[in-house]
Amino acid sequence: MRLAYCYDERFLQHDTGLDAHQLPDGSTLEPVEHPSSARIIRRTAQLLAASGLLDDALVVAPRPATEDELAAYHTRDYIAHVRRVTSEGGGWLDPETPVVPGSWEAAVLAAGAAIELTDAVLDGRARRAFGLLRPPGHHAMRDRGMGFCVFNNVVIAARHAQRRGIGRVMVLDWDVHHGNGTQDAFWDDPSVLFVSLHQDNWYPAGWGSVDQVGAPGAEGTTVNIPLPPGTGNRGYALALERVVLPIARQFRPELIFVSAGQDASMEDPLGRMLVTMAGYRAMAESVRQLAEELCDGRLVVLMEGGYSLRYVPYCTLAILEGMTGRISGIGDPHEGTSELAQAEREFRPDQEAAIEAARCALAAYWEL
Ligand code: ZN
Repeated sequence: MRLAYCYDERFLQHDTGLDAHQLPDGSTLEPVEHPSSARIIRRTAQLLAASGLLDDALVVAPRPATEDELAAYHTRDYIAHVRRVTSEGGGWLDPETPVVPGSWEAAVLAAGAAIELTDAVLDGRARRAFGLLRPPGHHAMRDRGMGFCVFNNVVIAARHAQRRGIGRVMVLDWDVHHGNGTQDAFWDDPSVLFVSLHQDNWYPAGWGSVDQVGAPGAEGTTVNIPLPPGTGNRGYALALERVVLPIARQFRPELIFVSAGQDASMEDPLGRMLVTMAGYRAMAESVRQLAEELCDGRLVVLMEGGYSLRYVPYCTLAILEGMTGRISGIGDPHEGTSELAQAEREFRPDQEAAIEAARCALAAYWEL
């Protein structure tokens, strides 16, 4: 059955501009784009469109999320704050999260797109869905923007699904950074299984250690698998096999979301991991099979981070390949290089030890 897809050029109105670093003598180094550049999303949209994989997709138009929908997680004060800052010409939600006047429309459309894609899957118009959203959401907390994120798209969509009668929801977050906002939203809620694969001790500080398992009454429904820098396709596959898939089978979600950040790639400037196109394709394939096995295929994949202008489009294409079971014929731009070969072989004892540590910590709550 069909894939639902959503992308809208209005997402690009969230223009994060240039980073200009002032030098001690008062001069400014030639500016570069903010890491979360809109060009990454635009290039990804171009590549996905050229791949042929969307030719028979159900194209879903976004609509703005309502204030009540945003308030399924965010405080009314925070929503008003974002509206005010953007309408007054823009500014910063935190030291890393710039917003401009167009950011409001982009952010409410991204959250609304997540809801519309979820509806397409729940209505049976599509079996699975992919949203090329901007701005991303998983760092956004109840009452503040953080880490390039404005509204927490996946939390808003998951709560929408639950209002429509879905009981148990799983959110798998493979962004290289910890999905702190999503963890916070579901911390004391045993109806949502939140699973994060991320680089250990990275961003944000203090989040994502294995002992963060959820509040009393919801222990074990927060699953953190921090991985050492340098983890590649084999480590991610092993983490899925030993920890994520067995827990998912015991939890039995009725709907699966993926917070898909492609910043664990071998080329990302903000992560230190070695995942390649093949690794992302394999993870998406695993999750597609999991959804087929557990919940009639119901799967909604939403874009989070990913900062390699060159490689994010390809890794995202690989995710669509894994989700659809089809191959586009567009190869890895690193094909034939020794770096790609090494990244795909990469697997060290400390990576397996980290996965084992997570498995042992979670064995208190699940059969692992
Ligand atoms: Zn990230």
